[in-house]
Amino acid sequence: MKLTPDLRVSILEMAVMYAARFSIPPPHMLLSTREVLNMPKHVTAGRRTTAYKYYGVAYLQHNVVFLNTRKIPDMKALEKTLVHELAHLRFPYLAHGKRFDNVVERGLRGATFRPYTKHKKYK
Ligand SMILES: [Zn+2]
Repeated sequence: MKLTPDLRVSILEMAVMYAARFSIPPPHMLLSTREVLNMPKHVTAGRRTTAYKYYGVAYLQHNVVFLNTRKIPDMKALEKTLVHELAHLRFPYLAHGKRFDNVVERGLRGATFRPYTKHKKYK
């Protein structure tokens, strides 16, 4: 899709809405490969020059999400990619698989999730 100012606003609004449902702080959104390359190198380390290959990337340590708007064909795919990347931020311990897909599907249907808390071993 072509990244127009209107599309940018729509994506940012959608990101804020879904972030609230996932009980995570709204991530810093990168919407072009140029924006990925403009980030400090330590933020995008590992998936910097390869980001263009993907629909989306979550940089977990820095609460940054890249959506490859140029590569993504339509809004439905964009929303799915956004929710997929936000699911990585909220469920950092889940690898791709059945449980992860389930979270994404529920997220797309409007589910809300409690904040992530690390299990405490000692009180
Ligand atoms: Zn993923």
